[in-house]
Amino acid sequence: MQCKEREFGRLTDGRSVRLFSFECSDGMQLEITNYGGIITSVRLSDKNGIFDELCCGFPDLSNYLKPHPYFGALVGRYAGRIGGGRLPVGDEVYQLQLHDKHCHLHGGNTGFHTRLWSALLESDDTKAVLKLTYMSPHLEENYPGNLNVTATYTIFDNNRIDLCFEAETDRPTHLNLTNHAYFNLNGFRSSVGDHWLKVDADQVVELNEAMLPTGMLKPVKGSIFDFSELILLSSRLVPQTHELDHCFVLNQSRKDTPAVELFHNETGRSLKVYTDQPGVQVYSGNFLDGSLTGNDSKTYHKHGAICFETQHFADSPNQPSFPSTLLQPGQAFRASTTYLFEVRS
Ligand code: BGC
Repeated sequence: MQCKEREFGRLTDGRSVRLFSFECSDGMQLEITNYGGIITSVRLSDKNGIFDELCCGFPDLSNYLKPHPYFGALVGRYAGRIGGGRLPVGDEVYQLQLHDKHCHLHGGNTGFHTRLWSALLESDDTKAVLKLTYMSPHLEENYPGNLNVTATYTIFDNNRIDLCFEAETDRPTHLNLTNHAYFNLNGFRSSVGDHWLKVDADQVVELNEAMLPTGMLKPVKGSIFDFSELILLSSRLVPQTHELDHCFVLNQSRKDTPAVELFHNETGRSLKVYTDQPGVQVYSGNFLDGSLTGNDSKTYHKHGAICFETQHFADSPNQPSFPSTLLQPGQAFRASTTYLFEVRS
């Protein structure tokens, strides 16, 4: 495992932002910055030896300092939507910033994706460990509690990335963390319509018109959300009719089964995602509109990439029947996800 560190740029207050590069012996090249804990680049050869960028990202820090659709970022304190920005904790209700009249999204405008995390890099022959830490003060974005968060990326030589979140709070609060990376296994030569997707979920969270959970879980069997076998995505992505921006309820019996498998036949590349989280928000880049250009001068179009946001269900603080996201003082928060890239010949 080869690792390098360099300056990515500086924030307006002069703080240096670092960029960490990793090269696995199995060929994956990965870049992560401590600004927002963002994965800026994932590169890998295909079965014919063609080396491509597989992840939406920018070559310069300046692009990440402007609003962007959370490319590769750590998202918190609450990944996903919270209805009315209403965060009930005990007898109190904290009002969070609203992104439209209906909901709070992805921790607010100054969420974790905009924070400079402290970084510590350690490596040996076969793996590298990048430990990012951040102390989110009480009432940051109006969430209660001083929250110490650690996001540890462990990179292995077999093209595997583990992301483990740990956190503790000094007051009861809600917490739901994820990474929001967007992937295209064909190096952005086509939309993800020609990718195959499998999701280990028998149910999906039912949404209302405001894209908020109704509180019900719907069986996927026989519906457009049934990805129990590999399904060609073009058959399930029909603009204006149906697109993917849904939380799948992961089957809990799976142990070592991937939560998600994405496969691209022509390149032979696949991505498997494993997690201990109850859900995965599958988002097919519906709001990408060709206005952003990133690494290798690739322009990001609608359905040009897909996200697998492993997490709790949206709006859990207001949905008593959903698994709880409440974190109590003295309780250790832990959530982990693995991304494994493979190439089939
Ligand atoms: C949400 C989308 C949102 C996207 C990027 C996803 O997690 O579900 O609705 O547009 O993030 O902002």
